[in-house]
Amino acid sequence: MKIYIILNDSVPYDTDLGLKKFKHLTQISHCFTNTSVISMLTGKMPSDLEEGGIGYHTQFENKTNGIVDYSWKDQLLISQLSKAGWDINFHNSAWFYLTICDDPFIKKSHSLPCKLDEEADFKAKKQYTKVLGSPEFYAKEKAFIEKIQSDKSKKNQFYFIKNCQYHQALIAKTDTNKAVDNIKQVLSYFNFDEPNTLFWIFSDHSDFTKIDKLCQAPSFLTDVYVRGNNYKINLFGNNRINIDEFNSIIKRENIHFTRIFFVEDARCDIDPLNSTTAVACKFNGSDELEQVSYFKPENKYYGFKYNLVSKKIFPCRPDSELAQAVKRRFSWIKL
Ligand SMILES: [Zn+2]
Repeated sequence: MKIYIILNDSVPYDTDLGLKKFKHLTQISHCFTNTSVISMLTGKMPSDLEEGGIGYHTQFENKTNGIVDYSWKDQLLISQLSKAGWDINFHNSAWFYLTICDDPFIKKSHSLPCKLDEEADFKAKKQYTKVLGSPEFYAKEKAFIEKIQSDKSKKNQFYFIKNCQYHQALIAKTDTNKAVDNIKQVLSYFNFDEPNTLFWIFSDHSDFTKIDKLCQAPSFLTDVYVRGNNYKINLFGNNRINIDEFNSIIKRENIHFTRIFFVEDARCDIDPLNSTTAVACKFNGSDELEQVSYFKPENKYYGFKYNLVSKKIFPCRPDSELAQAVKRRFSWIKL
């Protein structure tokens, strides 16, 4: 059995990646990579794990001998799969070892022209943008994907693969359409018919340059493309999930599909250690998403309606059901 988790960092909601024969889900994520991936791999909201939530700098307060060492790391799906005998593989994901978990069971790889332990430093160099557009990088990606897919070992394999092209295009202010093409290029190397596999291809948040302090939609709206080959996952006919439900789906636990979805976020310029914003949202029919954002520094609720067709958002009176739901969900909301 192989599980492939492929993260397309920052790729906006409703971007066509040309994936056919996949079930398409709308996923309510969080608003930065760490919180989204942590919720995904633990089944919890950030403030269920760390009092007050997880900010951009919370990792710095949770290190042992310079290595990230969260007290809840045993709750990560990868820790549990590793204990159950799975191989855990991460590719192009140095951020994960630096900020979420760097336990020795993780097998690391990347396709950059540098040593394994230089990945994060290389990504900070100007040269990185150029490398992500180079034929050499894609030749290495192709060889890597062919190698892992042809591996016939009996051991169960978990792969987490990060596509950074869109995220990097936003940082370097280069062409995002080209970044999407490059991601499609990587995806084209996969044989999605490989037996005994689960493919889970997703984005962790929308364009991060547009995410505001109230986390207005579509900042947390993302796409998931899921496909199981001889691997049945019961999605109960739903096509919308909260990101913390992924864990339960993989563990085949019962999911209590709420029709109210939750988001938790910490804007770094406001509070680098704690959550600043919580969102409850619901879909009104197929065209509208209604959200209530609680903004902690002002101890105040804001209401918005986002039109999924026109992709425009309008302020409105905060819906009382959503306001009550977000208050019940997060103990740090005092209003
Ligand atoms: Zn991200």
